[in-house]
Amino acid sequence: MEFRKNDMVTLEIEDCGTDGEGIGKADGFTVFVKDAVIGDRVRAKIIKAKKHYGYGKLMEILRPSPYRVEPKCPIARQCGGCQLQALSYEKQLAFKEKKVRGNLERIGGFSALPMEPIIGMEEPYHYRNKAQFPVGKDKEGRIITGFYAGRTHTIIENRDCALGVPQNKEVLDRVLSYMEENRAEPYDEKTGKGLVRHILIRYGFFTGELMVCLIVNGKKLPKEEALVEKLREIPGMTSITLNVNEKKNNVILGEELRILWGQGYITDKIGDISYEISPLSFYQVNPIQTQKLYAKALEYADLKGGENVWDLYCGIGTISLFLAQKAGFVRGVEIVPQAIEDAKRNAARNGIENVEFFVGKAEEVLPREYEEHGVYADVIVVDPPRKGCDEKLLETILRMQPKRVVYVSCDSATLARDLKYLCGMGYELKRVCAVDQFGMTVHVETVVRLQRKHT
Ligand code: SAH
Repeated sequence: MEFRKNDMVTLEIEDCGTDGEGIGKADGFTVFVKDAVIGDRVRAKIIKAKKHYGYGKLMEILRPSPYRVEPKCPIARQCGGCQLQALSYEKQLAFKEKKVRGNLERIGGFSALPMEPIIGMEEPYHYRNKAQFPVGKDKEGRIITGFYAGRTHTIIENRDCALGVPQNKEVLDRVLSYMEENRAEPYDEKTGKGLVRHILIRYGFFTGELMVCLIVNGKKLPKEEALVEKLREIPGMTSITLNVNEKKNNVILGEELRILWGQGYITDKIGDISYEISPLSFYQVNPIQTQKLYAKALEYADLKGGENVWDLYCGIGTISLFLAQKAGFVRGVEIVPQAIEDAKRNAARNGIENVEFFVGKAEEVLPREYEEHGVYADVIVVDPPRKGCDEKLLETILRMQPKRVVYVSCDSATLARDLKYLCGMGYELKRVCAVDQFGMTVHVETVVRLQRKHT
């Protein structure tokens, strides 16, 4: 059946879309309804209709979902950061597991999936070690900070995000009072005037070290010593820096970094490995779940000690160093040169010598090393961005014939596509496990183990 704008429909909400909107069906017609939750029975008014789907406005909750909970954060609905706070955490996990399963079955064509139970968080709030708060002014001209509302650059005021660490509030209170007292103006995106663009805060969960970096449209701030004076007293403070970004664009960080106080980085640990983290480096935002994710990847790699391992899309080498503790030799490949510099420094810092890192595209470096230098692999680990692996890389993996492939994925749809390809060509899907790294949001990580079939 087809629907038109302004039609009223009754829906059972059964699923959840990429922005957290509830999804229900009326006579085969799919409707996306903002603020409806899995398990709700609702009445919605169609506000936009396409042939097979449309968008509805929530008019009435006829029967609230048994999985509805009170969001912890009072501005959860306006803020663009979280999508699932109104759904119980248990149900969030069930939704994520179902999403992974659904993609593997539908896109990957798998059945009887060897799926382990999803690994959830013990504390699904306050898990993020990093926050980037934009700074601006409200209508009355007061300096404010918080998060952007979904799909806009309007700042929703909030100094105490429920996903972040409690230290954020103290830091923000002090930076904003420094700005008021010393006329350090917030940056205005429209005019390109003003100084302070963002406040970046990072906290080492295992070391208690705290870092603040002000991203500034200019090289200097007025009375920098007053800012340092306020911030250095906060327990754990290790690094206060200024990052210069004078470009008129949406990229948060510039390239130039100046230390105002302390060192230019904090340290933190994942398992036994310690990392130096500068404001510019990539680092996993949920260190507790990352440790569980890597432990699963290590289990799936099933290393006995002498193996040759490739870690493709290795970032700052976190998985590589984790695996190197158990493998013969690990080679990491990553496209961002600074990340590879971090990887090398972190290897040295931990005295790990059985690793080598390459800058370049995985789909270029691996075929080159295979063809020109005859390298081989017992195990290949991949952890690509959302778009998944390049087909050229998958072809090379098939030619190299490693015993096992461990695929870590942040998008189960592209994962399913890539697995379908590999499993059509001699590999078998042995294990699948979803790991929740991002509670209250719709995102989920998946790790799988493929084994070469005996021929
Ligand atoms: N394994 C790392 C990072 C994974 S994120 C960790 O766990 O921390 C994915 C990484 O792939 C990013 O660092 C990104 O810069 C890198 N990347 C993106 N496209 C790439 C390509 N074609 N070849 C190699 N690396 C790539």
